[in-house]
Amino acid sequence: MARVALVTGGTRGIGEAISIALKTAGYTVAANYAGNDEAAKAFSEKTGIPHFKWDVSNFDACKDGIAKVEAELGPVDVLVNNAGITRDAPLHKMSLEQWNAVITTNLSSSFNMSRNVIEGMRARGFGRIVCISSINGQKGQFGQTNYSAAKAGEIGFVKALAQESAKHGITVNAIAPGYIGTEMVRAVPADVLAKIVATIPVGRLGEPEDIARGVVFLASDAASFVTGSTLTINGAQYIC
Ligand code: NDP
Repeated sequence: MARVALVTGGTRGIGEAISIALKTAGYTVAANYAGNDEAAKAFSEKTGIPHFKWDVSNFDACKDGIAKVEAELGPVDVLVNNAGITRDAPLHKMSLEQWNAVITTNLSSSFNMSRNVIEGMRARGFGRIVCISSINGQKGQFGQTNYSAAKAGEIGFVKALAQESAKHGITVNAIAPGYIGTEMVRAVPADVLAKIVATIPVGRLGEPEDIARGVVFLASDAASFVTGSTLTINGAQYIC
């Protein structure tokens, strides 16, 4: 039977590419999203992948959402913690709401989701967890103390959980994307975008598929010895 993969924020942007790549690789895929019903419906019509709506920053919603996915598709073998948001401001102007929204959606979500699949994975002796971090969690970014802290937190999270899970056939890794040409990035004015691209030695933005291919590798049996690592996919913009 096909393995089941659950992608948070799997209906748009990088998550959409991850969902499609996993389906193409033979997984039964479920795509979670937060509230953009129109995009989720269009995604499912285009891909045939079902969408499931819940807020990954809410522990109980994750528990209920995962139970629904598992009832419909079977136990989750591969979890991709991809959902994320930004609420940028320099720290001296950042509100507690901006801080909390980014920490709970980008970091606590990894706990909320992983905690609700890890016991099943341990019992079955197999699992793959991939967290989508960011270049800005590796190097920091002006105006993003919340986002950089959350994304760096995910890297620490996978290092610790990888050690706890290694004996149970479960690998836990992060991917740190650089600038990816999602709708949001492509909407940046052309002159600003040109300045960003000039800082990327490969000379182009990343594509969502560049990240998706990394996820497919980390989810595969071929990657069973890769755990606790962070795969940097950024066109050499930041090497660490
Ligand atoms: P998008 O904004 O294009 O898509 C975000 C997805 O996450 C949507 O499906 C959205 O659902 C979902 N989502 C947001 N908040 C929640 C929530 N609380 N609960 C459930 N789902 C939620 O994001 P990107 O594709 O650009 O980014 C994907 C990941 O990659 C993020 O973690 C981001 O931080 C990271 N990243 C992105 C980079 C880039 O250049 N784009 C660079 C480095 C990292 P809905 O459609 O309902 O809003």
